[in-house]
Amino acid sequence: MSESNLQVLLAHRPKGAPQECDFRVVEGPVPEIKDGQFLIRGRYLSLDPYMRGRMNDVKSYAKPVEVGGVMEGEVAGEVVASRHPGFKTGEKVLARTGWQRYGASDGTGVRKVTSDVLPLSAHLGVLGMPGVTAYVGLLDIGQPKSGETVVVSAASGAVGSVVGQIAKIKGCRAVGIAGGPDKCRYVIDELGFDACVDYKAGRLADDLAAATPKGIDIYFENVGGEILDHVLRRLNAFARIPLCGLVSQYNLTEPYGVKSIGSLLMNRVKFQGFIVSDHFPRWPAAIADLTEWVRSGRIKYRESVVQGLRRAPATFIGLLNGRNFGKQLIEID
Ligand code: NDP
Repeated sequence: MSESNLQVLLAHRPKGAPQECDFRVVEGPVPEIKDGQFLIRGRYLSLDPYMRGRMNDVKSYAKPVEVGGVMEGEVAGEVVASRHPGFKTGEKVLARTGWQRYGASDGTGVRKVTSDVLPLSAHLGVLGMPGVTAYVGLLDIGQPKSGETVVVSAASGAVGSVVGQIAKIKGCRAVGIAGGPDKCRYVIDELGFDACVDYKAGRLADDLAAATPKGIDIYFENVGGEILDHVLRRLNAFARIPLCGLVSQYNLTEPYGVKSIGSLLMNRVKFQGFIVSDHFPRWPAAIADLTEWVRSGRIKYRESVVQGLRRAPATFIGLLNGRNFGKQLIEID
């Protein structure tokens, strides 16, 4: 094999916002495969907000990355050598081999990409983990009914964009919250949401009230912090909050203290955290429905693709600050 491996390692555990010096990019040999293993050449690496949590050594639903270890993540790539009876050279796969060009696998957690409806990269976004997160969170936990108002934060992103579009398919009023006029315009004009509130414009309470004249029945929470407080004040009785993520809090050393928590009691709200990997039995149905909705044009998606694994640290730091516009991917050089 003439190409070398390229890896991004965790160099230090960040305090607060990660810096580029918290990562180390190294070159090394391509892994040797043993019997029962195969070698994957990554084509795209998915960058996701949850990776910030893996950099901390705290109790969580998943183990942290070791200092000096390869940063965790999912790639879409191709089998380039195999000593495994179930995987052949040339097959396209999704695998959690991390921030590196090559990874060896025994097949655990690997999914084959057999559909060619969309390009390979889409299987890390709208037809992958973020799309399924939107599907399970909104449909199973939120349980939307036609005519209800669904609000979603980080609305132009990988998860939020799909949440609002499924809400529309289910006959709901879809309201996004996003940072800046460009993202809000995209959410309304391209994705078909009914309204979008730019939380950076400085009028969040008024703009949210104008966008949700009948209150809020479902809030799909992606960001937390002050935005959550504003939404809590507009909840209807028996509202549901699928708690998907808290991206505004991931870099904070002191989390924001939510003030309007009484609304949960007064309105008898269901507020449920969820992790998409706990819902594996739902993945096939979710991917089948999402594929059909994308194929028929009812769900649109957007990707932010940066070339080169060496740029993954800076791109990841940008993702946590809203510099992505759509699903953030690295095309592995
Ligand atoms: P996105 O593609 O939406 O990118 C993150 C976005 O978060 C940014 O573009 C930015 O959008 C927004 N953001 C960043 N900082 C802030 C801030 N301080 N205040 C408000 N918004 C901010 O990411 P994903 O769609 O991949 O993930 C969205 C959420 O879903 C995350 O919280 C993630 O952790 C969570 N998640 C949870 C899963 C689960 O199983 N529970 C699975 C997958 C994702 P803007 O410019 O609009 O502010």
